[in-house]
Amino acid sequence: MTSFPANGGGVSRLRVLLIEDSRSDAEIEIAELRRGGFEVSADVVETQNQVRDHLDKNKYDIILADYSLPNFRGMDTLDILREKNLHTPVILVTGALNSETAVECVKQGAMDYILKDHLARLTIAVRRALEDVRVRQERTRAQEQLAAKVEELARSNCDLEQFAYVASHDLQEPLRMVASYTQLLAERYRGKLDSSADRYINYAVEGATRMQALLEDLLAFSRIGRNGVKVAPTDVSSAIDEVLKNLELPLKEHSVTITCNPMPTVLADRFQVVQLFQNLIGNAIKFRTKRNPCVTISAEKKGQEWLFSVFDNGIGIAADHRDLIFKIFQRLHTRVEYPGNGVGLAICKKIVEHNGGRIWVESELGRGSNFRFTFPAAVADKAGKTEDYELCTQNPVSG
Ligand code: ADP
Repeated sequence: MTSFPANGGGVSRLRVLLIEDSRSDAEIEIAELRRGGFEVSADVVETQNQVRDHLDKNKYDIILADYSLPNFRGMDTLDILREKNLHTPVILVTGALNSETAVECVKQGAMDYILKDHLARLTIAVRRALEDVRVRQERTRAQEQLAAKVEELARSNCDLEQFAYVASHDLQEPLRMVASYTQLLAERYRGKLDSSADRYINYAVEGATRMQALLEDLLAFSRIGRNGVKVAPTDVSSAIDEVLKNLELPLKEHSVTITCNPMPTVLADRFQVVQLFQNLIGNAIKFRTKRNPCVTISAEKKGQEWLFSVFDNGIGIAADHRDLIFKIFQRLHTRVEYPGNGVGLAICKKIVEHNGGRIWVESELGRGSNFRFTFPAAVADKAGKTEDYELCTQNPVSG
């Protein structure tokens, strides 16, 4: 084993492990690298034990390995590196190598190969290998940072959901007490105290009732994705039938026309699919204009997903608010104008995203709203087979 200290006059430092049995070849390679601008320090070894020993004790930027030495095959370096979980790039430097063997070496993990009588390429090959390592390290670092961020986000989301669930669940009981006793106060003492007292009691009853409604919605929101979700092939047209039954009264009251084009079967929780369509159709009725509400529901297959559309002829939504409305408790109107808590669309978004889809709205003020969302079209079942669900036709219905 020989050591060549750094020459000191170069541009970039390079720590090299040279696996080479010819001292003169080693010197020529080092001289070539120095000529190429490297400040080289090199250890020259020729046996497997020496390679292991040097890799244990030192850190190298690059390994230049002779393809075949009397007691060692240059390619064995790759196995040693893998065993030690090292990613130092290896360039084979060899007297002669046919192109098939050279390609095979590169396939197995060598960065490059250089023929000893073409050593002018050595500097370029080393620079390219170092650049390759730098890019790979940067990519790995970026991937690690991304994975850590995703994990952190998932954890904080989970904490938040847990908090929302526990808060809304545990607050219900004390709130029930407040609501029932203020109601009792109102019944017993209305008209018996002065008019201000009546007004205050009414405010307290209203406040408690409203908080109950908010908590119920928050609980419904935080329940999505918790235990008990039954993902199964769900016939969307029969889910819509159920929604139409649930909404029978408002549909009749406002003479709503629902046109439902052929619907597919999707893999989702049936209860959630009903909830999703019920919120969207319910909103189409609530945010109607003076005209009779018309809702058109359709689905089309786009690549690997189904794209659904629930299109109404209601008041529409200004461009600035198209994202805001999907956030929890965000509303564009007062409760006097339209009742509600601003949770419906947040629930829709959570349902769609839990099922691997996206939801958005296309709309303009006064021109109706087209709520669009996707569900994955094909799913791998447990046996690894892929199923594709087909359309089942349904005639237009009228509410
Ligand atoms: P809520 O109906 O309780 O207000 P949502 O989350 O369902 O809560 O809707 C949020 C807001 O989005 C509504 O207050 C309304 O301003 C707007 N919006 C939702 N659906 C429609 C619709 N079909 N047409 C017009 N505006 C809508």
